[in-house]
Amino acid sequence: MALHVLLVEDDRELRRTLRDALTVEGYEVQVSGSAADANAVLKHAMPSLTPLDLLILDLGLPDGDGADLLHSVRSKYKLPVLIISARHDEDNKVHLLDAGADDYLVKPFSINELLARMRVSLRHRGTTVQAAQTVYQCHSLHIDLAKHEVSKAGEAVHLTPTEFKLLARLVRQAGQVVTHRQLLVDVWGAEFVQHTHYLRLYMAQLRAKLEDNPTEPQLLLTEPGVGYRLFEGV
Ligand code: CA
Repeated sequence: MALHVLLVEDDRELRRTLRDALTVEGYEVQVSGSAADANAVLKHAMPSLTPLDLLILDLGLPDGDGADLLHSVRSKYKLPVLIISARHDEDNKVHLLDAGADDYLVKPFSINELLARMRVSLRHRGTTVQAAQTVYQCHSLHIDLAKHEVSKAGEAVHLTPTEFKLLARLVRQAGQVVTHRQLLVDVWGAEFVQHTHYLRLYMAQLRAKLEDNPTEPQLLLTEPGVGYRLFEGV
């Protein structure tokens, strides 16, 4: 069955372009141009037999801020939410991700980038219902969280318990950005939320062990001012 997407975007031209591109990809797309209309669609669709699978949300809407819609969606539904916005300030991104957005794309973005982020968000939500992702494979790196195994080009890599915990947190959300706050809280605990230097230190250690060239990371990617993203594996 086709996946059901609600696209909330007030720019008519962009709305049409995205709707057409997503339809070609096999998504069933509903569109809204305002927060009020999006609320009405959500209210109708979510309890129905064909609930929405993904929400793509613009922030600047004529009758309100998409962030408010994100908060209300998060309080009611498990629906993945992908933010699309022309705003690129880091504080705002961090705030939205911490508030439960699954990912954030800054306009202008390519359709391929959008499709890739949608796949990751959908897979992530789908797999968390069954079981979180525990196996990650990319290039010569192989990670099996359940077996506590990490290898590169067939050679076992030794990680400290904290390094493993940090890597595991990123594997569970591979392909998605995880904010500094989320990483610090989940790996070290809520009282360490200010200690971003821990992250810099441990990410450098992980890169030294896992990247071909630690100064030009291909797997453990920095999202400047926001957090880190493990390159989407297979
Ligand atoms: Ca807008």
